[in-house]
Amino acid sequence: MDGITIALSKGRIFEETLPLLAAAGIIPSGNPETSRKLILDTNRPDVRVVIVRASDTPTYVQYGAADLGIAGKDVLLEHGGLGLYQPLDLNIAKCRMCVAVPAGFDYAQAVQRGARLRVATKYIHTAREHFAAKGVHVDLIKLYGSMELAPLVGLADAIVDLVSSGGTLKANKLVAVEEIMQISARLIVNQAALKIKRELLQPLIDAFAGAVRSGGATP
Ligand code: ATP
Ligand code: MG
Repeated sequence: MDGITIALSKGRIFEETLPLLAAAGIIPSGNPETSRKLILDTNRPDVRVVIVRASDTPTYVQYGAADLGIAGKDVLLEHGGLGLYQPLDLNIAKCRMCVAVPAGFDYAQAVQRGARLRVATKYIHTAREHFAAKGVHVDLIKLYGSMELAPLVGLADAIVDLVSSGGTLKANKLVAVEEIMQISARLIVNQAALKIKRELLQPLIDAFAGAVRSGGATP
């Protein structure tokens, strides 16, 4: 496509990106929450938005199927970032990646004993690096969602998951015992597209940067 394709996931990323797009003069036609359309036109004939799974956003941008996209740092660390230019922390979709265990489980003690910990997570790569840096031996179990269930049914001792309010942990009698890192969403750009379509992409990147600086996107 001659114009620009932007990859977004529905939910919080789409919602929190709308003000940034507006700052760049882009208004998607339609809402992925209520429509099943995967390709949204915008008020600009040369810009379209494609709706993808959050963890697929870097892949679409890496292969140039989208010129740019917005993805959480959690997702980017698992993807690896190959072929992606990451010019901006957008300061949206903020949360923390944490280790959590059932209330009453003595995590410090288990770690100190050198026990082998069973950890369920969607974030295998980040979890592996975290525990390796601490010298904690872990067996990682890959899950695709609802990590909170794993320790409750004996699949794992601990989970590595994203926490914002802590409400989901609390509802499942889990406690965060370690913060691995702060998470926010980043703008990602296909490296080749940035060179070939710079006159189209740079103004958009600049408008996003301006909106982030003015704090307009902070909820
Ligand atoms: P799905 O919910 O379809 O399994 P997902 O969990 O990856 O996929 P979202 O829940 O929309 O998709 O999350 C998208 C991004 O928003 C995540 O990659 C992360 O960066 C951020 N995020 C996830 N959970 C939270 C949260 N509780 N609070 C704030 N931001 C979050
Ligand atoms: Mg989710």
